[in-house]
Amino acid sequence: MPKYTPIIGMEIHVELKTKSKMFCSCKNDPFSAAPNTNVCEICLAHPGTLPVPNHTAIEWAAKIAKALNCQINTESKFDRKHYFYPDLPKAYQISQYDQPIGEHGYIDLEFLPGKNYRDKAHIGITRVHLEEDTAKLSHDSSGNTLVNFNRAGVPLVEIVSEPDVTSSAEAKMYSQELQAIFRYLGISDADMEKGNMRCEANISLQEENKFINDKGVIKPVAGYTLNHKVEVKNINSFRAVEKAIEFEIIRQTAMLEKGEAWKQQTRGWDDNKGETVMQRIKETAADYRYFPEPDIPPFHPVKIAGDISLPELPQAKRLRLREEYGFSYADAELLSSDLHWSDYTEKVMSELVDWLHNLSESKTDTDEILQNKQQQLARLAGGWITSKLMGAMAERSINIKILRLKPENFAELVALIYTNRVNSTNAQKILNEMLDSGVDLDPTHVMEEKGYGQISDEGKLSEVIDEVIKNYPQQVEQFKNGKEPILQFLKGMVMKATEGSADPTVTEKLLRKKISK
Ligand SMILES: [Zn+2]
Repeated sequence: MPKYTPIIGMEIHVELKTKSKMFCSCKNDPFSAAPNTNVCEICLAHPGTLPVPNHTAIEWAAKIAKALNCQINTESKFDRKHYFYPDLPKAYQISQYDQPIGEHGYIDLEFLPGKNYRDKAHIGITRVHLEEDTAKLSHDSSGNTLVNFNRAGVPLVEIVSEPDVTSSAEAKMYSQELQAIFRYLGISDADMEKGNMRCEANISLQEENKFINDKGVIKPVAGYTLNHKVEVKNINSFRAVEKAIEFEIIRQTAMLEKGEAWKQQTRGWDDNKGETVMQRIKETAADYRYFPEPDIPPFHPVKIAGDISLPELPQAKRLRLREEYGFSYADAELLSSDLHWSDYTEKVMSELVDWLHNLSESKTDTDEILQNKQQQLARLAGGWITSKLMGAMAERSINIKILRLKPENFAELVALIYTNRVNSTNAQKILNEMLDSGVDLDPTHVMEEKGYGQISDEGKLSEVIDEVIKNYPQQVEQFKNGKEPILQFLKGMVMKATEGSADPTVTEKLLRKKISK
């Protein structure tokens, strides 16, 4: 049986959050406004109206193109894409055909080592173009279809990738990376649930070694006939991106193994059934009868956008979290995926680095030792942010955008743990109190007030240890007879008696001293 290789290209749409719509001055607010209130003659396609392009939308589309390493075209134009559907009042969509805002870009994805069969993927970006969104259809229980034109004419950017994606996991990661980029650029909320961002995948399976990917064009070799691509729409979450592609790979493999062929087609992802469903035989570009939009003159994206300055993008941020601070790959990945979290993390780390450098014992450290300490701190902080803090916030339904716990206070808590002034059980209690209190709590204050601090005072610990030795004479005897592991049991009893506050190192040292023969 021949082996098949999945060839996947992604089409991602993202709504820009400009103040007004793409070609009219209506408010760009498709979600919160009452239906059909943000409308005018232009976005309702009354005859005789003229569209006027939104310059901010052109600038932002150019920004996306630059972030995806595209060439920004000096000349660009809008085209009419014709099709008939109730969500499209003009019966054509103003889009871009052969002169998009940007083209020939790429994005490099880096995977958690060993998680995928390749550690890096270079995904070509074919084009970035600007268009207008359609109206939103909804279907009520009695079978009526309602049309809300608030969304009609909202600026929409489409990003088309080359067929360089080779697995469902890569497709998901590509989509997540784009979402992070849109959010870092501040041009869209890119919320998939709200439909701000929509993913479509083009998938075809080809026999291994029977084709080449020539700069994004799949070409057959030695008389092989390529299998048609299948476009999958209605994908509403990253998880669905993965599942829909996996389903198609299995479906197409089964057909090929039975010797069946298929036509180029569009299928819809049914999330409830977990399968793709045939929608229609795919239109070709000719079916859309593209022609230049006569009401809008060609324009110059480079001139309109001017010098585009980009903020630090997720990939650079991730690398810096790892290399500058020493975060683990997984923590850097998670923390950079959201701008609010990466800002928070950076503030925590800058506090911790300052603190470390001012610590008296660090003053005499060599650069290497200091670097190691900083990495230890980053690992500790990374773990506490990604598991403990995020977990405690999730339990309380607190979102990072409304988190009141200041980064400097969280950094102080990490410093308390790092210096063994508090153990992790009590640190968790302090964290919970800081989250639950409406006011700004100082973790050292909470620790001292509630007696959460670690007991390392030998005098205090001695009393507890003597008590434990008195209560477990048998175990002490066993230890004296050479049963080393029993020490951990005795240590556990000291921990229990101090509610976890005994300093483990000091406890062990004292225990040994007291019960060794
Ligand atoms: Zn309008």
